[in-house]
Formats: sequence, structure tokens, C-alpha cells
Amino acid sequence: APTPIPTPPPVKSATSSVEDTVARIIAEMGGSKPAPAADATAPFSQGCIVADGMVTKSAGEVNCSCCERGDCALSGASVSLDISDEEAVVLGDGVFASMDEAVEAAAEAQRQYLFCSMAARKSFVDGIRDIFLDPAMLERISRMTVEQTGMGNASDKVIKNRLAASKTPGIEDLKTEAESGDGGLTLVEYSAYGVIGSITPTTNPTETIICNTIGMLAAGNAVVFSPHPRAKIVSLLAIKLINRKLAALGAPANLVVTVQAPSIDNTNAMMAHPKVRMLVATGGPAIVKTVMSTGKKAIGAGAGNPPVVVDETADIEKAAKDIVSGCSFDNNLPCIAEKEVIAVSQIADFLISQMQKNGAYLVRDAAVIKKLEELVLTAKGGPQTNCVGKSAVYLLDKVGISVGPEIRVILIELPKEHPFVQEELMMPILPLVRAGDVDEAIDLAVELENGNRHTAMIHSTDVRKITKMAKLIQTTIFVKNGPSYAGIGVGGEGYTTFTIAGPTGEGLTSPKSFARRRKCVMVEALNVR
Ligand code: NAD
Repeated sequence: APTPIPTPPPVKSATSSVEDTVARIIAEMGGSKPAPAADATAPFSQGCIVADGMVTKSAGEVNCSCCERGDCALSGASVSLDISDEEAVVLGDGVFASMDEAVEAAAEAQRQYLFCSMAARKSFVDGIRDIFLDPAMLERISRMTVEQTGMGNASDKVIKNRLAASKTPGIEDLKTEAESGDGGLTLVEYSAYGVIGSITPTTNPTETIICNTIGMLAAGNAVVFSPHPRAKIVSLLAIKLINRKLAALGAPANLVVTVQAPSIDNTNAMMAHPKVRMLVATGGPAIVKTVMSTGKKAIGAGAGNPPVVVDETADIEKAAKDIVSGCSFDNNLPCIAEKEVIAVSQIADFLISQMQKNGAYLVRDAAVIKKLEELVLTAKGGPQTNCVGKSAVYLLDKVGISVGPEIRVILIELPKEHPFVQEELMMPILPLVRAGDVDEAIDLAVELENGNRHTAMIHSTDVRKITKMAKLIQTTIFVKNGPSYAGIGVGGEGYTTFTIAGPTGEGLTSPKSFARRRKCVMVEALNVR
């Protein structure tokens, strides 16, 4: 009799066996189950995140597997962004008592984040944008920053915060490169560093937190912030708001963290923590040098002293207007703002008169200049902190001159050696230096930029001279015929960043600056040409 053919055991589908294998391997490694793959047809394709037995989901999310099973832990969760100033400094929502706790929590969050889909990342980034695009929220954090730091003006900070929320690039910045051939298929992909330590300045506290959070999360990282102590409450508020929103969107808890009491000691602890894989310093030369000396991968976004050259071919009326607007933006706090004018002699007087028409107050009296020096300079010749980011009206009042709010800039003609020309003052005192011709003006601009590779401007219609200056000055941002802020996307094309990394060379940072290029090689397959 013929031998009966045995019935084969039931086979699992290829997909489920791959999923099971991945889940088993991750479980063996002590990890969490990955989020389900994004479903392009679903109205919301983020999927759920399952961590240590807890299921989290996006509020209102549909078509995710736990939702279908009816065991969503956060079903119907809604986000409350109603956090008072007092609550901002209370522990919780990403605010920790010690740096060690903050870094450990961020490291765990990043491990879970590895298994979130790209659609999830995008939804988290979009959620962060939404918080800060709300006009009432923009108004609140901008006003709070001015009150707490005593620097800048709220209406310009609204523009800067809105810019950070709307024009910082997201996951679309991470473009995969592919090469295929007889040897198979190779991908080079942008992959997260892990936990990034981000040190933020007092001059752009919330702008930098918004911008760096978007860029760093888009690239798959978690972030530990070390805000400037003077901007503590508003910085902690921004971080808490981000945590609340991320929780409601089903993100791993503690992707964005900080400490209750930011300080130099805590910054040092953060820099030294072994689980912090990359450091990003947005601030003055000291902190940039410090992060570059740690032995870790560091991005340094440091000081500038942006010169603006005006030659005889420029539209002088427009140049005057642009220079006053750029120099007075947020009371000259931005590191990109015009810090000194170098004008070709032939047009210097006309330029000065046009600037006066546009809100510049010209100081010629040597006694007033001396009083201003005594007011705004320290014994070492640097800027007095209590004058940084103050308005022209305030500074003039301090030296006994009363002017109306139409005055936005204090214009003083000075020799190039003067500290107002050489130092980054970050207040609307704008020195003007004369040059014999445009070549001399360009050479002086290069000298005063001081190798920062930060920002420079020129007003000219001579493309050869514009090109010459661009080549010689080597700045990250070079604006032609516009105010400095066009270089960060206000009135100019292109994306924005509030971390402009001249010293370490990344330049205009974006998500790919916070990612490593990793190679994935499939041998002898997947080449279909
Ligand atoms: P800052 O250097 O005083 O402080 C920046 C940050 O570094 C703060 O969080 C501060 O607490 C920390 N810090 C400073 N020295 C430290 C030290 N020794 N140890 C540990 N932490 C330290 O700068 P600031 O006054 O807040 O900001 C203004 C400066 O930042 C200007 O020079 C400006 O040009 C620069 N800046 C640069 C960029 C850029 O993108 N390149 C952006 C904004 C500001």
C-alpha cells in the first residue's frame, strides 16, 4: 500500500514569523516591542508604543492594534498645556532633581524611541510645532523671557519663536543614500547619536529649545537640556509643555528632559555623563571651547561679530532701512545681528542721514560717547551684562538723553580699534567705520569678523565685489542686500536654525547635524537593475 503523505504542520505567514522573531530578539535584549509598522492607508499611522507592559497611544488615534483590541491605556487622553509659572519649576514632565536622573531617564526614552516609526517621529515633531504656533503661547513665552532675562523685546521674540516652530526642518531632512550593483544594495542612513546634551543661551532661550528639540527628535535622539540659569523658568516651562504634548501623542516618556536647578555644576555633570553621546553648545566662546575639550562629539555654535559693508553701488535708502531693522531686532541680541557698519567714504554721510530717517540716533558728542562707554563696558572692555539686550531708548536715557520709541539704534562713527567695533556688544549701539573703497571695506570686515565664521552682510550691486567678500569672509551666513535676519529665514528663503555652528563646521544645523551616517549592506541581492 502506498505510504500516506503526512500532513504538513500549519505554517505561519512570513510576516508574522518575522514580527515574532524581531519581538523575541528585542525581548531577549531587554527591549520593548516595536511599534507596529506605519500603515500608509490609516488616517493616523503612528501605531502604538508598548513599553514594559504599558501601552501608550496617541489621543484620538484610530487604526492601531491596541485600539482595536480595546486595551489602550491612554484612550481619549487629552493634553493640558495649562502650566503656571510656579508649576514650571516643579518636578515632573521632564524636570528632574538631579542631572544623573535626567540623563538616565532620557537614555531609557531613547532606547524606546528606536522602535517608533518615522510616522510617529513626524507626529511628535508636528505636535511640538503646534504648541508654539499657538499665538497665546507665543505671546506668553516671549513676554516671560523678557521679564526673566531683562533682555530683548517681546514682539521680536514672538517672531523668533514662531520661526523656530515653523521653519526648523523635520524628518524630511534625513535623506537616505543608496548604491546598488552586482555586489547588492548599500544604504547610507542618518541614525541617532542617542542622548544629546544641549546647552542653551540666555539670548534665545526658548527659540533654541524649540529648534534643537525639533532637530534632535527628528533625528531619533533624546535631549537633555542645560538652560542658562537666568532663563530658568521659561526654559523649564518650554520643556514641560513639550513633555505634556509628547505624552498625549504616545511618545516614550522623557525624550526631552532637564534639571530643576540649572547651573554650571549641572552642566558639567551633564557633559561628563557617559550616557550623553553628543554635546551641542549654543553660547559664547567659553562654553564652546569647553564642549570641544570634552573628548565627546561636540557641536559648537559660538559668538559672532557680524559686519555689514555698504558700497557706493548700493541702494543706500534701502540699506539704511535694512541695517537699522536688522541691528535693532530683539534689541540686537541675535548672534547674527549687524554689529558694525563699514561704509565706503563716498556714501557714508548719505547713509548716516538715511539711517537717521529710519530710527537711528546719531551721537557725535565725545562726552556722551564716554558716558556710553562707562555705562556698557566692563573694566576688561566687554559688554556689561545688565546692558545686554536693552533698547536704544533705555541706554540713551541712562546717559541723560530722552528720545521717543521711534529711536531703535544708537549710531556712532568710530575708528576700527574702538571696543564698540571690536566687541560683540549685543545691544543696539551701532558703530560706523569709514573705508576708502569697497576693497578696503571688505578687508576690514574680514578682520572684524575675527574668524568666527558666523555672519556678515553686504549692500552692493557689484556682483564681483559681493563674490569677493563671500569668498574672503567665509561666514556661515552671508546676506546680500537685506537685513541680517533674512539669513535665518525672516524675509529670506530657506530653513531656520538657532544653532549656527561656525567653530565646528556644521554651519546651519538641522536634523542631519544630529545624526550619524551609518551604512547598511545587503550582499548580492536587491539590485534589480
Ligand atoms: P553664555 O556663553 O554666557 O551661556 C551659554 C550657555 O552656556 C548657558 O547655558 C550657560 O549657563 C552655559 N555656560 C557658560 N559658561 C559655562 C561654563 N564655564 N561651564 C558650564 N556652562 C557654561 O552665552 P549667553 O550670554 O547665554 O549667550 C550669548 C552668546 O551666545 C553670544 O556670544 C552669542 O553670539 C552666542 N550665541 C550663538 C548662537 C549661535 O547659533 N552661534 C546662538 C545664540 C547665541
